[in-house]
Amino acid sequence: MTEDTLFSKIIRRELPADIVFQDERVTAFRDINPQAPTHILIIPNKVIPSVNDITPEDEGVLGHLFVVARQLAEQEGIAEDGYRLLVNCGRHANQEVFHLHMHLFGGRPLGWMVKPE
Ligand code: 5GP
Repeated sequence: MTEDTLFSKIIRRELPADIVFQDERVTAFRDINPQAPTHILIIPNKVIPSVNDITPEDEGVLGHLFVVARQLAEQEGIAEDGYRLLVNCGRHANQEVFHLHMHLFGGRPLGWMVKPE
């Protein structure tokens, strides 16, 4: 069985979070340390530790993450100006929480995708 994570506790509402969307497959909540006016994490309810652990079975839930992201962007009023969806994987990307999550950033110009060295 895959290990429980901090985010699993948020899904089960054992830890407080500002949950903006939840259904049987996906939960979305505001990041505790926002990097933009809108900064939401969209996660599968099932624990997939990182992109490296994705299997073909996960295609449905991962597609659903994008559908929810698109709906939340509309809801937040950032769809027209644009936004960024980001998934970190592993050490070089500074992944902190090993429960796959998609960041939704928006509400201001976001600059370059990766800072030059
Ligand atoms: P990563 O670097 O793994 O892609 O991003 C992890 C994100 O989770 C960070 O942006 C961090 O601020 C956020 N985060 C970590 N712990 C918590 C928490 O307990 N609650 C919420 N809402 N966000 C968290």
